[in-house]
Amino acid sequence: MFNKILIANRGEIAIRIMRACRELGISTVAVYSEADKNALFAKYADEAVFIGPSPSSQSYLRIENIIKAAEETGAEAIHPGYGFLSENTHFASACRESGIVFIGPPPNAIDAMGSKITARQTMKAAGVPIVPGIEEGVSDPGDAEKMAESIGYPIILKPAAGGGGIGMKIVMSQEELLPALTSSQSVARSAFGDDTIYIEKYLTEPRHIEFQILADNRGKTIYVSDRECSIQRRHQKLIEESPSPVMTPDLRERMGSIAVKAARAIGYVSAGTVEFMYSRGDFYFLEMNTRLQVEHPITEMVTGVDLAKEQILIASGEDLGYSQEEMEIRGWAIECRINAEDPLNDFAPSPGKIKRYRSPGGPGIRVDSGVYTGYVIPPYYDSLISKLVAHGKDRREAIARMERALYEYIIVGVKTNVIFHKAVLRNARFRRGDINTQFIKEENIIEAVKDVAVEDDEKGKSLASALGADSRKIAAISAAVGSYLSQQKAGEKT
Ligand code: ADP
Repeated sequence: MFNKILIANRGEIAIRIMRACRELGISTVAVYSEADKNALFAKYADEAVFIGPSPSSQSYLRIENIIKAAEETGAEAIHPGYGFLSENTHFASACRESGIVFIGPPPNAIDAMGSKITARQTMKAAGVPIVPGIEEGVSDPGDAEKMAESIGYPIILKPAAGGGGIGMKIVMSQEELLPALTSSQSVARSAFGDDTIYIEKYLTEPRHIEFQILADNRGKTIYVSDRECSIQRRHQKLIEESPSPVMTPDLRERMGSIAVKAARAIGYVSAGTVEFMYSRGDFYFLEMNTRLQVEHPITEMVTGVDLAKEQILIASGEDLGYSQEEMEIRGWAIECRINAEDPLNDFAPSPGKIKRYRSPGGPGIRVDSGVYTGYVIPPYYDSLISKLVAHGKDRREAIARMERALYEYIIVGVKTNVIFHKAVLRNARFRRGDINTQFIKEENIIEAVKDVAVEDDEKGKSLASALGADSRKIAAISAAVGSYLSQQKAGEKT
């Protein structure tokens, strides 16, 4: 077992991993940028090493700075969290070359899933069903037209190196194809430094269902739980739940076995997620995330497995301590991603100082966060304040607990998407579990958010207003400060 682990990440996920280390009796090293000098995760760690200026390109993405910090502190292993360097083959290899254990899959498994085109080819060869489409890149407009014709409209253009829904374009007919291809290519070039685009059939009204898997070094691979992640905006997840409302024991067995097959096909080790599109009883491989995911807590809540801890144990050479038969799902868990953003202004980020903060508690509630009263959310990174998770004996109780927790949540000083979550949770279709990836648009949730905002502020329907916090006034001041700061920092942003 390791004595010391460096966490190459920040915010709530850095704390999440340090919690696992603390329980295992392992010392922790945080790395932090200029903007994170006063961040909770840097204080939580046993040691903290400064790695550079605020923009992540000069700190959290600097491989050499992170390896140096591990060497200087004597950390034997590095956990990359999610985002940043977590799916970077060069980083995983650099760790190896420096004699440091990378807590995650081997570099070749990251590589196998790094390009969506290669991943599709590998999965197809392994007998895993993939979304209908083409397994090669396209740049010539004539070729694109022929491919699209053969698949049949609507289609979706995707950057092969993509992530986060960036650069994906839905194309309904041939007239839209050329401008969409040009735009996709240029976004992909600037976001990923690679403008390879490929074409998939665009499935209408699909669900996004994914499977958490765990694999050890001896090839033992299991699926842990399924997650429904269809509540999305711009192809990015906002609310996740486990299990999926459409899951049956038979479907779970079939999809889970395919997920295990996908992982085995690339010699996968550690925690990972196999994502599927599900449409009218059929399911297709979408991609595999070769890291711990943002939404991993809902799986932990329904299975009792500590995924971060398992990753560390596996990386230290231990065998997986669970069998497939032990993976029973108990109750239901829902996660809301609480972001500092304004749902009434196209979800514009709302960095700034948190003037008052009180997180919910009580039965079945888990809050993973890295903030506190007086903390200033920096404008450089993503706007996640916390992950609010509710667990109940069934879906109905999980929803009721989440609504109760959202009522209790006090965050004053920055705008948040708490009102957005309230609007989704009260929606009749959501409550029936009748959801798909187009839900937010189809149900016009943004209009419903306006009603919630008025109720919260004017009718006092939140604990913050009951306690006399005038959130709008304070938010206005902080927005002014925030925009001043972002003007100052313009150009530094990554
Ligand atoms: P990224 O890696 O950029 O997140 P994914 O391939 O994982 O992209 O897809 C993200 C989301 O985009 C999916 O959850 C789904 O909502 C939508 N999507 C992707 N591919 C398709 C498809 N072929 N048909 C319909 N929706 C899709």
